[in-house]
Amino acid sequence: MKGKTELTEKIRRQPERTCIGCGEKRTKRELLRIVRTPEGDILPDLTGRLNGRGAYICRNADCIDLAVRKHGFERAFKMPVSADTAARLREEVLRINEAE
Ligand SMILES: [Zn+2]
Repeated sequence: MKGKTELTEKIRRQPERTCIGCGEKRTKRELLRIVRTPEGDILPDLTGRLNGRGAYICRNADCIDLAVRKHGFERAFKMPVSADTAARLREEVLRINEAE
């Protein structure tokens, strides 16, 4: 059984990542990992275990739009993200939010 102090300590030490949309720093569990696979597909990584280059984004559709507008995807993946891909990611985020 872990003490409360130890647990708090564990949460505080969670690694933080920057959202490629709004630029806010958040813990990994608050963010959605998006991966560019070696094949060049851009997918939401729901398991956190997909291979490839990863980027993190808040779990909300606004940050997807922001990332598209601010070229966050291009910066993170060194390639542009098509409108189709962006729309797919947006849907995925909305679906995740509904499921939670
Ligand atoms: Zn964000």
